[in-house]
Amino acid sequence: MARSVLAIDIGGTKILAGVVAESGEVLSRAQVATGAGEGPGPVIARIVAAARTALQQAGQPVERVGVGCPGPLSVREGLVLSPPNLPGWNRIPLPSILERELGLPVAFDNDANLAALGEYRFGAGHGARCLLYVTVSTGIGGGVVLEGRLWRGPGEMGGEIGHVVVRPGGPRCSCGRAGCLEAIASGPALARATGLPSAREVVAAAREGDARALAVLREAGQALGQALAVGAGFLNPDRIVLGGSVALGAGDLLFGPLMATLEEALLPEARAGLQVLPAALGGDAGLLGAAALALAEG
Ligand SMILES: [Zn+2]
Repeated sequence: MARSVLAIDIGGTKILAGVVAESGEVLSRAQVATGAGEGPGPVIARIVAAARTALQQAGQPVERVGVGCPGPLSVREGLVLSPPNLPGWNRIPLPSILERELGLPVAFDNDANLAALGEYRFGAGHGARCLLYVTVSTGIGGGVVLEGRLWRGPGEMGGEIGHVVVRPGGPRCSCGRAGCLEAIASGPALARATGLPSAREVVAAAREGDARALAVLREAGQALGQALAVGAGFLNPDRIVLGGSVALGAGDLLFGPLMATLEEALLPEARAGLQVLPAALGGDAGLLGAAALALAEG
């Protein structure tokens, strides 16, 4: 029988659990509201209940469990630290709690790392030897997959391209410094720079020809291109995958200036073997990423 794993995607509003086959086929799924405001105890009880429902529905044994959880978290220590999306959580040993409850080995990681692994195994990163994954939404995060393994780094900051400084002395970032990529190209940064309520409206205004919105998106695309050119100039990846609601929603408005900047910045040898693609997994990205982690650990 083909291997299958249990995948759990924990979000601020919903928890999704599913049994996923090695092929990426989702064999069962159970979804519940997170109810994050109630704190860790009730949320963990709902995670376990959703996991048991998904296991029962699939009706076949699984080898391992993969869990995607909002960060910050420490994979090395096996702790969820204090995610803004999960109020009341503080250094919760979620993997060991779930191992005890489910009787299965549990691996976990943050959303961006798992999206990188999911795209590598099942999506737009398939077949890559070195994949840089970047997600642009409320924040900017990412992941690096080298020869099939996620590169986390000693400080678990591998792939965190959002805090690469691209405009020294530029806009103030949530990390306390100035000019980080996230302070220029994230959804909230685009809204702030145009005075519009959200990135979605910035994109809509740009599509109607609004000069300010077009300029802000062009600058964001260039900043993304600059940061990626540093990563790609240094690592010589064969694939870059761009995901996240802002990047996918803006489409060519971001990809155009991003690609132009990347083309100009990279030496021809570094450019030659590089494909840049939009993320392919869509709504199941979290679940498939968690499945990819469990399969990679097995
Ligand atoms: Zn920063």
